[in-house]
Amino acid sequence: MSKPTIYLVDVTNRDGVQTSRICLSKLEKTMLNIYLNEIGVFQSEFGFPVTRHETNYLNANLELVEQGALSSIRLGGWLRATTEDVSTAYKFVPKIKHLNLSISTSDQMIMHKFKGKLDHASIIKEMQEAVKLARKHGTESIGVNAEDASRTNMDYLVEFSGAAKNAGADRVRYCDTLGCDTPFSIYERIKVLAEAVKIPIEIHSHNDLGLAVANSIAGAKAAVEAGVDTYINTCVNGMGERAGNADLVSVILAIKYGSGFPNYLDSKVSLKTAWKISKYASYAFGIPVPINQPGVGANAFAHESGIHADGALKDRRNYELYDYEELGRGEPDIIETGRKITVGEYSGIKGFRNVYDKLEIIFKNELEAAEILELVRYANVHNQKPLVDEELKFIAKYPDIARKIFTMSP
Ligand SMILES: [Zn+2]
Repeated sequence: MSKPTIYLVDVTNRDGVQTSRICLSKLEKTMLNIYLNEIGVFQSEFGFPVTRHETNYLNANLELVEQGALSSIRLGGWLRATTEDVSTAYKFVPKIKHLNLSISTSDQMIMHKFKGKLDHASIIKEMQEAVKLARKHGTESIGVNAEDASRTNMDYLVEFSGAAKNAGADRVRYCDTLGCDTPFSIYERIKVLAEAVKIPIEIHSHNDLGLAVANSIAGAKAAVEAGVDTYINTCVNGMGERAGNADLVSVILAIKYGSGFPNYLDSKVSLKTAWKISKYASYAFGIPVPINQPGVGANAFAHESGIHADGALKDRRNYELYDYEELGRGEPDIIETGRKITVGEYSGIKGFRNVYDKLEIIFKNELEAAEILELVRYANVHNQKPLVDEELKFIAKYPDIARKIFTMSP
């Protein structure tokens, strides 16, 4: 038997964007998918296939997979576990290959959310029908989400997960929807579940008690010890509902550098773009990275007090657990303090040419330059903030995809 692996499923483009008061444009979500691919995330939960304003974005990103721009990452959609949602998803996003189907499993939600509409038995029936219909449509991988799993009766959670496996699901997502688990409780619960059902388990933690990262690795440890693969759900910069989800970079650091934690991490994962993705997400969300954020905060490698500064200068290992170079830090940020030409919604061709010359992008002819300029104008309208170099490069490289992403017709 091969050694079980810990994979990462990032949910920034789903849990992150459904969060109150924060949002991303479709272009920003696309850039995040590209960055998540670079960092070696197994799957990006890239949106809601039944939500109409996402249709063009979702289809365009699936084209990016076909064109090789998203080389190894899977793009997965989030749906309610109903046949109606599955049918609608395939109507709007016919090429979607990976889905997570979600339904509540706790007594609290069954009684106080469904209010008699569904009981324990009908929840299992509805979930199984949804899984089977998704398979019929050709879904390649299916995760079944037990919403509020952490408050679900353990016997019922085992029964539900076994039923998901029997219906053809590939994974079960254990959702600590309210963030009430502790590393001790989640370890015990995932151990029971994984040993009883023998199905790969996703771990979806929330940070209401400040335990999202700790719970994620404790749950992952239980799963791999029971011999099944596990998939930790993360968000860039710890975004997500209320107090957020498990922070992507912190989870990777915890698995790699945490004491006594076996290194089961997916070998594709690399931190070398950690700094870049965190910085971009912060800009896109308009939310600063806290100064004390693990790995990517401004103070993560800063030392001032006498003993610490002296120690760090003598040997970094005196006061640094890991190297800043590993996270892609160390290069100075260069800011133009003289004349700066920018390109945006009211730009003309001369300024546009100046900006793209600096990016060393050459256009075939005037027509192509004019076409990209027009898309850049729309991109700026779409993002409502100055475009970054990587976005400008993306638009020049994938103009047809960009056009599709910017198109919404309510
Ligand atoms: Zn969540």
